[in-house]
Amino acid sequence: MKIYNTMTRQKEEFVPLNPGKAGIYVCGPTVYDFIHIGNARPMIVFDTLRRYLEHKGYEVNFVTNFTDVDDKIINRSIKENVPASEISEKYIAECKKDMEALNVKPATVHPQATKEIPEMIDMVKTLIDNGHAYEKNGTVYFKVRSFDSYGKLSHKNIDDLESGHRAESHQLKVSGEDEKEDALDFVLWKPKKEGEPYWESPWGQGRPGWHLECSCMSKKYIGDTLDIHAGGEDLIFPHHENEIAQSEAASGKEFSRYWMHNAFLRINGDKMSKSLGNFFTVRDICEKYDPQIVRFFMLSAQYRTPLNFSKELIEDSAKGLERILNGAEKLSDIVGKDNKKAISEAEQSILDNEIPKFVSRFDEAMDDDLNTADAISVIFELVRFTNANTDENSSSDYAKKLYDILFELSDTVLGVHIERAEDEMASEDVARIEALIAERTAAKKEKNFARADEIRNQLLEEGIILEDTREGVKWKRA
Ligand code: AMP
Ligand code: ZN
Repeated sequence: MKIYNTMTRQKEEFVPLNPGKAGIYVCGPTVYDFIHIGNARPMIVFDTLRRYLEHKGYEVNFVTNFTDVDDKIINRSIKENVPASEISEKYIAECKKDMEALNVKPATVHPQATKEIPEMIDMVKTLIDNGHAYEKNGTVYFKVRSFDSYGKLSHKNIDDLESGHRAESHQLKVSGEDEKEDALDFVLWKPKKEGEPYWESPWGQGRPGWHLECSCMSKKYIGDTLDIHAGGEDLIFPHHENEIAQSEAASGKEFSRYWMHNAFLRINGDKMSKSLGNFFTVRDICEKYDPQIVRFFMLSAQYRTPLNFSKELIEDSAKGLERILNGAEKLSDIVGKDNKKAISEAEQSILDNEIPKFVSRFDEAMDDDLNTADAISVIFELVRFTNANTDENSSSDYAKKLYDILFELSDTVLGVHIERAEDEMASEDVARIEALIAERTAAKKEKNFARADEIRNQLLEEGIILEDTREGVKWKRA
């Protein structure tokens, strides 16, 4: 597989440190609110990378953090007059719900900054001991000029950065960082302010800087050298540049072999962000559209291409997904008949000669720097082909083989389900709804109308409408 490496600015063959294994670290969200659909882009894209590597037989160690100590979280906790941990725990739980809805697999580990403080203190100590960091009145700074290759990821020249910073000397005073030896230096550890969460450290009570947490958590859960470090393109500078400086200055080893960055999700041509106020939360969007459509939409562009979010485009994705679902449904109907016919010679020939071509074209697209846009086109072609090459006379076993291939490519690798969401509701939820309906019928028989109404209202709140018909009670989703 070829991956575009931000470090070298070219597509390179993916060769992991240990054959057959891949250690991937993706910067996760800062948890002070519901995630917006821009945040969902790296989640979906790099989850798909992980799924594809697993499909190719790699054992993937996928680590993605939650930034749970940060000014934004603290500000919100002050505003709401609750501990910062209450804010972060709440939004971690909400974020996990959104990830599940979007069929993003849980990471191997989801570390949280606040639970890894001893490791961070150790790294700061190492950096002070080896001359890459210094302390001033409870703040520890990383000495950027002590790290020769600073700027190598973002392709920035250190002297240009220096002159940019000098112009900002007033801002340094405002931020309380005017004791730096050099305007380029960045914070590893900062002293606590009144009312803020803090931890004991050799430099007094305080908290870690943002960049430090990713360096420490990736080291702890993957090792000194990662195979792939990923995140949104806004993180290249300064976040990832600073992570490299900290990690490589501490370990003396290469920090990550490949760097992948997704382009931004835009809205009406503008960057979608909280600060611009032009964002939608995943929760809002998933109320209007099936989350599978959102996932499918996100993969409709290669991850390094900016993607515009609009009603029209998401509705196009809904129509496209519908074609795949219809194709899968046709196959599963034939499978469901279980007609016990032997696979015919013509069917076998299709399975041996035609289908593998689709699979290898899908893999080629994915091997080309995760080109999910082209991979989806191949799935469309496969569906067109299976529609044209199956009918009521096809053998169920043949249809099952076609279904399984479609399932592997769409469901397993892209994470886009090929069964309709309604079908998924089937098991537990349907059983529960039907038990409530039975209880309501019994209540009515006993003239306990209050309980019967209570059940009707409870179901209505869940979006389930009951209809009393001559054949009995029918229900549907609102
Ligand atoms: P944050 O919570 O701002 O640190 O963002 C979490 C992740 O979402 C990072 O990898 C960001 O680069 C990414 N991200 C934020 N906004 C967008 C956007 N509009 N499009 C794509 N990725 C984004
Ligand atoms: Zn990070």
